[in-house]
Amino acid sequence: MILPDYHVHTIYSPDSKMEPGEAVLSAISSGVSEICFTEHMDLGHHMESFNRVPDFKRIEKSISQLREKYPEISIEKGIEVGYIRDTAEQTAEILSGQKFDFVLLSTHCVDGMDCYLPESKRDRDKITAYKRYLETVYDSVMDDNLTEYYDCIGHIGYIAKCNHYEDNTFPYQLFPELFDKILSEIIKRGKGIEVNTSGINRAGHVLPHPSIIHRYHELGGRIITIGSDAHKPQNVGAYIEEAIDIIVKAGFQEITLFKNREPGFVTITRA
Ligand SMILES: [Zn+2]
Ligand SMILES: [Zn+2]
Repeated sequence: MILPDYHVHTIYSPDSKMEPGEAVLSAISSGVSEICFTEHMDLGHHMESFNRVPDFKRIEKSISQLREKYPEISIEKGIEVGYIRDTAEQTAEILSGQKFDFVLLSTHCVDGMDCYLPESKRDRDKITAYKRYLETVYDSVMDDNLTEYYDCIGHIGYIAKCNHYEDNTFPYQLFPELFDKILSEIIKRGKGIEVNTSGINRAGHVLPHPSIIHRYHELGGRIITIGSDAHKPQNVGAYIEEAIDIIVKAGFQEITLFKNREPGFVTITRA
């Protein structure tokens, strides 16, 4: 049975202390068959530690060593690009000079502040904040600078795991028209979505919410990856099987894996 974890951060991201080797060992012991490293690159981020280009040479070296050492698991080289409109062109230029297996485009910052920070809530109620978040996701999909350089939109609904409200859930019915606009555009541009399991403990559901995954499939979306967004060894591979159940319920028969940014579709078989 294929069990991919397509969203993992290590010491090459500013918010993780996990060694890539620890991540691989943890993946193997959790039964993960394929791991994709997706280090952060958030150019223009207001926190200086995030506003930098990852050390691509060291990442490359580390991955090739791990591939040699652990042939029993597939190891992919990815990146998680944070969308900030003002630096989209610069980001595209950097991406164009690098080779990846998989690129995630994620919205972390809305109106100049990372949703993760409590102060990013400002005086916004849930509906206002979630709408601004989604409008930013829409901008990221519409930004022609980046279209060529990414594969999937990461964790749609990220703001829901930042825990600003009593009820943080972020289902389709909150903004059906806006979700339809975003999902249709993703499909039209030949891109996919990521199902991110890190929302389960924080938002109460995977990101995006299962109702949105269902709608994405209904609209014709077929490219879909699953990732834990682990920053620590114990989270590598977390809830991946549960996420597979969710996408199967949403109508998917295949999961998407990437090599050299080419999607491959693998039939989901159950143990
Ligand atoms: Zn992210
Ligand atoms: Zn991440």
